[in-house]
Amino acid sequence: MAVCVFCEIIAGRAEASVVHDDDSVVAILDHRPATIGHVLVIPRAHMAGLADADDAIGAAIWRTARRVSAGLRASGLRCDGVRLSLADGEAAGQDVFHLHLHVVPRYPGDGVAITVDWKTRSRELLDHDAALIREALR
Ligand SMILES: [Zn+2]
Repeated sequence: MAVCVFCEIIAGRAEASVVHDDDSVVAILDHRPATIGHVLVIPRAHMAGLADADDAIGAAIWRTARRVSAGLRASGLRCDGVRLSLADGEAAGQDVFHLHLHVVPRYPGDGVAITVDWKTRSRELLDHDAALIREALR
């Protein structure tokens, strides 16, 4: 199995610029930031994706993301808004297969582009889709 870069950072064997560190998660600056101050919130324990994360880790990630977001706004770095994103799986754009949440400072003209081919879906089809998901949630 290939070495996990986030586990290497958490073990202290690879360098990172740490903004927060506790028993559950570490928050570091992305080494290739979308904007200056782009933070990654990473659980200490290795887990690939959302299905591997229990509610306690989810809460720790969310709590840290909220704190980091407030910190970014107060930091003096440019931050008019914050975008959170988490890619779960290769098809979603996950590149490091150790769960991580991106906390990205945003401002007008920041050069971040999120392109979407928005679909049109009738109410009937939306209700059908919702029924499939509801059934899967049982
Ligand atoms: Zn890892």
